[in-house]
Amino acid sequence: MEQAKAKSEQAPPETGGQLNDIILTGLPGSGKSSLGRLAAEVLDRPFLDLDEEISRISGLSIAEIFSRFGESRFRTLEKECIARLGPGGGRIIAAGGGAIIDPQNEAALKKNGLIIFIDRPPEKILETLADDGSRPLLKAPQSLYSLAERRRERYLSSADLRLANERTLAEALSNLKALIAAETVDRGYGVIGHPIGHSLSPTIHQAVFQHLGLGHQYQSLNVPPERLKAFVARAAQSGLRGFNVTIPHKKSIMALLDEIDPEAQACGAVNTVVKVGGRLKGYNTDMEGLSLSLREQGRDFQAARLLILGAGGAAGAVAFKALRQGAAQVRILARDPQKAHRCAQSASKGWNAAAEGAALSPQELKRAAADADLLINCTPLGMEGFGQDFECLDFLDQLPSEALVCDLIYKPQETSLLRRAAARGLKTLNGLGMLIQQAVLADELFLNIQTKRAELCKAAAAALSCAQNNPC
Ligand code: NAP
Repeated sequence: MEQAKAKSEQAPPETGGQLNDIILTGLPGSGKSSLGRLAAEVLDRPFLDLDEEISRISGLSIAEIFSRFGESRFRTLEKECIARLGPGGGRIIAAGGGAIIDPQNEAALKKNGLIIFIDRPPEKILETLADDGSRPLLKAPQSLYSLAERRRERYLSSADLRLANERTLAEALSNLKALIAAETVDRGYGVIGHPIGHSLSPTIHQAVFQHLGLGHQYQSLNVPPERLKAFVARAAQSGLRGFNVTIPHKKSIMALLDEIDPEAQACGAVNTVVKVGGRLKGYNTDMEGLSLSLREQGRDFQAARLLILGAGGAAGAVAFKALRQGAAQVRILARDPQKAHRCAQSASKGWNAAAEGAALSPQELKRAAADADLLINCTPLGMEGFGQDFECLDFLDQLPSEALVCDLIYKPQETSLLRRAAARGLKTLNGLGMLIQQAVLADELFLNIQTKRAELCKAAAAALSCAQNNPC
């Protein structure tokens, strides 16, 4: 109901948006200009070399400015030049290595752009530019080493991203292109997480957009925790229309948004962010996605005796939803019983029925399984690449024969938990249906539509199966 209300209040999705500038910084000779020029050419973006710009407006070469007026005059001109840059437009800018040392310059550059530190070790710079007589600094290797020592920390702390340029220009260019593609979504949609390489979201959302005849782009965006704040600030300004959120940002993003849907607030996690008039609003479509996926199996939370394994974000949200959809009992087991209690308490807050929490011990598992008809694994145990699995699955033998065993994991599609449950003749459900449903629900919010859900889920499932059969 809350979501339906929110939909009617939404403005149509925004179109277009200003591209961010990309500002390259780093030591003299680190490759800022050559990389910037090449990247601008291949990415079809304007290129600006700040030193050239300073020469142009002053009518003097950089060497002349230094020799006739000294470094302070150069810094003043540099500052003026940066202040005059104005809104982005997607330029690739090679900034002098000293420019971002000044906090005012840093703030001005960050306003419209993303700063990338080109990190080339001094010995490599000296090796490559040994014959370049036009660079006074490089004639005195010691001064380059001491400059590197003085500035490195500052580069690392002020840049949004670091690009290692330790080998060839071609390799650095290819990495720079990938960084720019991942970090500057000019329009369209994406999913943020860290790491994000494995995400199936682009396949699902592109399939939905395609089915609707829309040309929107959807991409995976690798956003480490330390860059989440900057990403959200940029997202509000850029042409990005909306984005999904995955591990590890589902909780931490909440404090950075302008508004949060009441259900997401109560679940304590956001997986979808919609931009309306420059304001970012967070939703949680995971739990409705799970409900819909259960319903496809002819099951729901109504009167269910639910056993949840794990007490993280998903577990709390499942417990919250199950209580409000009429579950008869909700038990949460976690390796840390305190977390299980806290999760149960918070899911029950403001509700007339209470969830219980206990330890994820073999005894407790067996006891709770005997009294459950819906078991949902909300831990990563058994997930591909996680490296850990349930040590013993004997507790499954305690479940009544009509019980459904659900694993939120979708990779692999059949976890050892589901395999063992199926072998016992129990009904099973993996996380794929939930993944598809939550994505389609997110698209409904992104596009402000509520139509053809079954058709869209089918198109997404077909695209997923095709991608899994033909991995690139
Ligand atoms: P989370 O917040 O990190 O919570 C994970 C929970 O698992 C925590 O309670 C954690 O315990 C527990 N856990 C981790 N390692 C464990 C181990 N070795 N033994 C026992 N318990 C362990 O993650 P989440 O967002 O809730 O996601 C949980 C699972 O659901 C993940 O596998 C995720 O991929 C899946 N998921 C699927 C979908 C979908 O669309 N299908 C959507 C959301 C989530 P501690 O708190 O003690 O670390």
